[in-house]
Amino acid sequence: MVELSSGPLLEVDGVTLQYRTKRNLVTACYRIDFEIHRSDRFVILGPSGCGKSTLLKATGGYIAPVEGEIRLNGAVVRRPGPDRMLVFQEFDQLLPWKTVRQNVVFALTASGQLKGREADERAMHYIDKVNLAKFADSYPHTLSGGMKQRVAIARGMAMEPEILLMDEPFAALDALTRVRMQDELLALWEETKFTLMFVTHSIAEAVKVGSRILLLSAHPGQVRAEMNSDGSDPEGPDGMRLSARIEQMLFHEGTPEREAENV
Ligand code: ADP
Ligand code: MG
Repeated sequence: MVELSSGPLLEVDGVTLQYRTKRNLVTACYRIDFEIHRSDRFVILGPSGCGKSTLLKATGGYIAPVEGEIRLNGAVVRRPGPDRMLVFQEFDQLLPWKTVRQNVVFALTASGQLKGREADERAMHYIDKVNLAKFADSYPHTLSGGMKQRVAIARGMAMEPEILLMDEPFAALDALTRVRMQDELLALWEETKFTLMFVTHSIAEAVKVGSRILLLSAHPGQVRAEMNSDGSDPEGPDGMRLSARIEQMLFHEGTPEREAENV
């Protein structure tokens, strides 16, 4: 019998990520360390350009570290895989010529995970979870931005990955829809306790969505602090205190340091 390791699910160990352009070398983030455990809602928070998306892509296996290692269940991440599904900010991540249901089914069949009726049943299960059962046969262009993001989330979750990677998935939505989507994501998490790695530049979103928050300094991103935030209502006293603390750290110059903070 295979023994499930009780260690961290994901380890990011001294990771530096760079882009080589024709003219120069851009360091996106520098010697990043953190661990994600099962069922964490792990949020990476930092200003634009600090390397959040790059870090998420590296975890997805799309970019290789120039230094350090990323390990999932102890195995070094070297390429994309169905154990790490990405949800992006853009609304055009769905295939426009496929319906909602077909988009989710396609992810399952193309990856070889499931086929036929099993794929269809799994797809409908997650489409229902994001409250889109009535729209299963609709095409993406007939849906609102929020609905399209729900499809992308259903598609990611249907693959039942070890970890769901979300890159500012609600950033392009209007404020009200954004808050509703955050609530829905938390409700989904309550149901299935999936492991989430969620990138945002919004302090309020980080405080609301995260059970743990990793704060990155500005370009090139370095770990500034790590803190717990379980269940903080961003508008409640604990959430306000945490937000103020984060704000202070983001705008306070100095050497990055890691702090453990409990609210
Ligand atoms: P964030 O998601 O935090 O806004 P990114 O990960 O997108 O930050 O980018 C980090 C840094 O890497 C930025 O300075 C950005 O300009 C640079 N960068 C991102 N993508 C590329 C690329 N394809 N080629 C060169 N530089 C890039
Ligand atoms: Mg980004």
